Amino acid sequence: MNEPLLEIKNIRKVYRISGGMFQRRRTLRAVNGVSFAVDRGSVLGLVGESGCGKSTLAKIMLGLETASEGKILLEGQDIAALSCRQRTRRIQPVFQDPYASLNPRKSIQAIISLPLQVHKVGTTAEQNVQVEKIMDLMGLPRRVRYNYPNQLSGGQRQRVAIARALIMKPELVICDEPTSALDVSVQSQILNLLIDLRRELGLTYILISHDLAVVEHLASRVAVMYLGRIVEEAPTEMLFKKPLHPYTTALLTSVLTPDPELGLPETHLGVAYPNPSEPPSGCTFHPRCPKAVERCKVKIPQPVLKDGRMVECHFPNY
Ligand code: SF4
Repeated sequence: MNEPLLEIKNIRKVYRISGGMFQRRRTLRAVNGVSFAVDRGSVLGLVGESGCGKSTLAKIMLGLETASEGKILLEGQDIAALSCRQRTRRIQPVFQDPYASLNPRKSIQAIISLPLQVHKVGTTAEQNVQVEKIMDLMGLPRRVRYNYPNQLSGGQRQRVAIARALIMKPELVICDEPTSALDVSVQSQILNLLIDLRRELGLTYILISHDLAVVEHLASRVAVMYLGRIVEEAPTEMLFKKPLHPYTTALLTSVLTPDPELGLPETHLGVAYPNPSEPPSGCTFHPRCPKAVERCKVKIPQPVLKDGRMVECHFPNY
């Protein structure tokens, strides 16, 4: 069997936060023992409500945060041993808001070629050719190369952000809500572009999205995160056809909210998302779970692996 491109092994991220005046500092376990693997050329969809830890996990993978515990292996190599340059050459992000992530004072040519300059790849003439090639691949007209981000449409700006992410030919691209800041009319164009690029360039994606339809369309596997843990992980078709965890079931039967800041559709679970610094006992989903019994309040469910999927629940829906 081929080695996975990326392996996340028992990653934890703990913050000590102030409890306010006269109160002791509290511990926030933003990521609480997350493990998964991503095969080369595949797309892992990562879903979960705001505060579940998915953004922290993305920052750790990008080297913007340091894990308190655990390891991340890229082709078997611990990425902690890679320099910042080596890591950014192999793992690149595409963020939600292309306007915020592009320097408004730089031309499109300067933005796209910046990674080549930082990594000292080729002469200026060779860099210009690379920029032309990637602009063609992105469907960006060459005439916009000397324009500035505010002269482009939202869809074009996201194409520029993707071009910048891909110009160094990374192996892994972490797409954090790549279409949610865009008009509905251009969302599908960007999604189709991501699909085509993956096929043509052999890319691997981790796709963080609040839009389950987008995840179903793009991802080969889906990981569902709740309060710092992956509570279910499965091939996309299996997960959408037959969710095993009650939280996944609630997500799939909920209605999509247009606001990506809310993280996920309104789940109608009756009880609000818990404060991550005061997680419930036992199974942390128990206050919201329609299937919860006494045992769920005291006993933490352990991951169960079966038929190529994983679930953390005492009573999975087999
Ligand atoms: Fe619900 Fe219990 Fe399963 Fe947790 S362990 S998801 S509370 S049934």
